[in-house]
Amino acid sequence: MLSMNCPFCGERDISEFSYGHEAHIARPANPSAMSDDAWADYLFMRENPKGLHFERWVHTHGCRRWFNVARNTYTDRILAIYKMGDPPPKIDNPGPTGLAAPVDPAPRLHVVGGTEADQ
Ligand SMILES: [Zn+2]
Repeated sequence: MLSMNCPFCGERDISEFSYGHEAHIARPANPSAMSDDAWADYLFMRENPKGLHFERWVHTHGCRRWFNVARNTYTDRILAIYKMGDPPPKIDNPGPTGLAAPVDPAPRLHVVGGTEADQ
């Protein structure tokens, strides 16, 4: 069983959360001046890294509040949780693939009844 720390409610089962997509995508200042290709890129093109990724999550079946998460997509470890509107945290030593060690062990994705190797 997996769990996540909501910054507002505390640790809850992962099934209560929903992934919102990549974080820190700036809205275009003047969309009507954009080309169709640039608009399509803004709407649909997202990063899909193996390693460090900044994401938006919502506690759908809880407080329904949004927050940002820095997650390692390879290990599924959560490296940091921070408020919407805050800049992404600096992750020390992300390595060439972004496979960083957790900055703060508290916001990690917890595995209840097993280890991460059991996933
Ligand atoms: Zn919550």
